Amino acid sequence: MTDKTYRQATLCVHAGATPDPVTRARTVPIYQTAAYVFKDSRQAKNLFALKETGNIYTRLNNPTTAVFEERVAAIEGGVGSLATASGMAAISTAILSFTALGDEILSGDKLYGGTHELFSQTFPKLGRTVSFADANDPSAFENKITEKTRGIFVESIGNPGLDIPDFDRLSQIAHENRIPFIVDNTVGVGLTRPIDFGADIVVHSATKYIGGHGNSMGGVITDAGTFDWDSGTFPEITEPDESYGGICYPKQFGNAAFIVKARAQFMRDMGPCISPFNSFMLLTGLETLPLRIRKHSENAQIVAEFLTDHPKIEWVSYPGLSSHPSHDRAKRYLTGGFGPIVGVGMKGGMKPASRLTEEVKLFSHLANIGDTRSLIVHPASTTHAQLPETEREAAGVRDNFVRLAIGIEDPDDLIEDLSEALKRI
Ligand code: PLP
Repeated sequence: MTDKTYRQATLCVHAGATPDPVTRARTVPIYQTAAYVFKDSRQAKNLFALKETGNIYTRLNNPTTAVFEERVAAIEGGVGSLATASGMAAISTAILSFTALGDEILSGDKLYGGTHELFSQTFPKLGRTVSFADANDPSAFENKITEKTRGIFVESIGNPGLDIPDFDRLSQIAHENRIPFIVDNTVGVGLTRPIDFGADIVVHSATKYIGGHGNSMGGVITDAGTFDWDSGTFPEITEPDESYGGICYPKQFGNAAFIVKARAQFMRDMGPCISPFNSFMLLTGLETLPLRIRKHSENAQIVAEFLTDHPKIEWVSYPGLSSHPSHDRAKRYLTGGFGPIVGVGMKGGMKPASRLTEEVKLFSHLANIGDTRSLIVHPASTTHAQLPETEREAAGVRDNFVRLAIGIEDPDDLIEDLSEALKRI
């Protein structure tokens, strides 16, 4: 199929796949192999020198994973994707592939706790420092850019505060400063396409809504192919790569330079690859993404409206409510629905908030999002517990905050479960 001519729901089912040329199998086979037999020694040499494309070793490429990568690239509107073992591997691979020692990243402050730890604790140990700006305030980004800043990073829908940044303005600021705009679209997948609003690199935890069933870890990086690496200071991309006999990625691979480099060099050397089985599971999940996301969003809106009127609830945070600070941006950017996550502030603080996670019966109490099942967690004592209090507050994680990742069950059952649980508190 010619992917570019189809709409998203069609791409989710078809992009990247044709019937298996050998067996005529209709679904994508799981190529559970570590390595591939060379045709001859000339081909082997060319593959290793990046002069020919083809399979060498599953750490670098795999036919099942290749379909997954092509499908995500088609859905997100990029020139190429690279699948990784997890969402964290996607974020670290993406940033470490184009930055060098001493470089800085400027990140929005409304982030998943694990990303915050990576940025504030681990990256500095690897010679990359990250500064944080209020994700809702583009001028805060403008004021914090220094001559060492090499990229702006935000989440499309901040997990868990659900803030939606001003993509248009942030991409403009990034491009005026000749640095790429990187968006983690984990929570926004199927709702928005950050590349349409100026993102140069999109990362996902595919563990969440791409897979959608809470059964497989994975991540994926997509290159929009829009960023001109030669316009800024990116020797990691533009200088000859001595580990490949001095090839120059932009010269050889044009606007796919970044994603080729991430695979050929970083994935080869650091190795955070996905298993073919997980690629298969994520591909299967992707087929129903639009259906699931629509139902998640419908259910979340119903739950959010029910909780808004409940006497034991102090506040409800949901981009689909006019009371949400990002509601206007949600209407502009979230064209596929307002999303699956609802934040709730319990009256009475930390204790009743924790109690709610124990009193529900249908919701699963665990630290994840992106499951068909409804999930509940108290972020201040779990996913964001390691953050200092001020940074936790900045990320929108108050002590009385409970995060609901609404599933695709019958919404009446979800409301009954929450209603009964709240009665017991
Ligand atoms: N990005 C976001 C927004 C997340 O919510 C998560 C995990 O919750 C990650 C990245 C990390 O993904 P993974 O758990 O697949 O490593």
